[in-house]
Amino acid sequence: MSYAYDDTNIFARILRGEIPNKTVLETDHTLAFHDIRPQAPVHVLVIPKGKYVNFDHFSAEASDEEIADFARTAAEVCRRTGVRPGAGGQGYRTISNAGTHGVQEVPHYHMHILGGRVLGRMLPKIET
Ligand code: AMP
Repeated sequence: MSYAYDDTNIFARILRGEIPNKTVLETDHTLAFHDIRPQAPVHVLVIPKGKYVNFDHFSAEASDEEIADFARTAAEVCRRTGVRPGAGGQGYRTISNAGTHGVQEVPHYHMHILGGRVLGRMLPKIET
């Protein structure tokens, strides 16, 4: 399976330094920054620096080092933003949207970390 990566997407432009971001944390392989339209008091996006479209692309083709770095950076964001449960925080939710049904807006893999308020049900109930 091959994944077509669009180099013009907004997160690629952030990684190239063409547009600014509010960085929370940066490592060799990963960047975490505040979402421009926050949906909760804490709303941080964690992205790999590599050219991956979505979670399954990243998991299939990223190196073990990139995957470990991504996971540890996301965990550190939970700690630094104070949402980590059991450590004074009240919890959080991670979300990664993919494709049309996932309603993915930006085609560069990212994890949302949301917290700072009660987030409600995971999904609204829809009559089918
Ligand atoms: P998704 O629907 O999962 O692809 O989410 C994309 C997210 O990127 C949305 O929550 C947007 O608010 C966020 N976003 C779009 N442009 C920017 C930007 N320039 N800086 C930070 N966040 C952005």
